[in-house]
Amino acid sequence: MQKTTQQIIVGLGERSYAIDIGVGLLSRTPLFNVLPHQILIITNTVVGPLYLDQVRAQLASHHVVVHTIDDGESAKSLANYGAIMDTLIQYNFNRDCAVVALGGGVVGDLAGFVAATYQRGVRFYQIPTTLLAQVDSSVGGKTAINHPGGKNMVGAFYQPQGVLIDTNCLASLNDRDYACGLAEVVKYGVIADAEFFAWLEAHVNQLNARDSGALTYAIQRSCEIKADIVAADEREQSVRALLNLGHTFGHAIEAAHYDTWKHGEAVAAGTVIAAKLMHQLGELSAADMARIEALLQAFQLPVRAPKMPLAQWQAFMQRDKKVQDGTVRLVLPTAIGAASLRPMADWQVIGQAITAMST
Ligand code: NAD
Ligand code: MG
Repeated sequence: MQKTTQQIIVGLGERSYAIDIGVGLLSRTPLFNVLPHQILIITNTVVGPLYLDQVRAQLASHHVVVHTIDDGESAKSLANYGAIMDTLIQYNFNRDCAVVALGGGVVGDLAGFVAATYQRGVRFYQIPTTLLAQVDSSVGGKTAINHPGGKNMVGAFYQPQGVLIDTNCLASLNDRDYACGLAEVVKYGVIADAEFFAWLEAHVNQLNARDSGALTYAIQRSCEIKADIVAADEREQSVRALLNLGHTFGHAIEAAHYDTWKHGEAVAAGTVIAAKLMHQLGELSAADMARIEALLQAFQLPVRAPKMPLAQWQAFMQRDKKVQDGTVRLVLPTAIGAASLRPMADWQVIGQAITAMST
């Protein structure tokens, strides 16, 4: 399949930027069009040893400082944020510098918030290395760190200047993290593009085998859909909320089982509950519901939630950012390729769908 670079533009006026997707892009020169002299690369202890040398080789004429954080969600911390600020100041980085994120969503979210706030904002570039980061977190400008009181509690909307996606990075990703990225890819098909959903169904084997041609297209189409939604609603006042399909249920699963369920897995199980709820309401056909479940399952994702008391679901779901005047609002599929955000006050109906899709 195709080996050339695909380019997608996120159209945000003067804050527009390009996402370049291709095989082996980590060794292209230049990595990004106009990089300043001073560059801080933020990476972690897993990704650095794998890909840092390749990236540094393209930056030989720059003054490069590397800050390496620990692996895992807990690295998106106020402490690491402070330590990176110390590094920038220690090396006399000025407002002309750039911050480059090399890693998954954890590195990208933290690096983005550093870039948004160092000296009121410096240039920011993303080199996402997980599938989830390539199709989701590196695009759209949400940056954040965690507070002991909650995930992503401190952050900013801050768009990067460029995103570089090398599909070769995915070869080293473990199976669970890879599948988690596919859960978000399926999400794009369900909320926005029936044709893409059908393409995914037809390319399950290639995607499970991490075929680079199939991956390039899946990433490209996912980024296009996200770019369109972000361009229409950068600050999530309307359609951007649709990117939360399966996430309100998923967040409840993650909150109760953070040690055993990954985000993409919880989103997969949550998406199936959302589909079931719409089927119960007579607004999604049995055939469409079955296709959604089958595709997630084909990508080795869980399609049943763990059993939890309804009161616990409700308590976790009421904390969702989309709750308005005490009422949960859910992203619900109305067909494959279309979804809407609905207030849902009837916990008996919600509970029925949850119970049916839990084991
Ligand atoms: P992650 O960054 O923790 O990466 C998952 C694991 O893969 C980590 O152990 C990491 O070290 C490892 N890894 C990364 N690249 C690798 C590679 N090429 N080969 C081998 N191992 C590799 O997690 P993630 O799933 O990428 O991102 C999750 C984070 O993203 C969460 O903090 C979430 O809040 C955030 N997020 C942000 C947005 C947004 O819009 N900003 C959207 C979705 C998720
Ligand atoms: Mg998500």
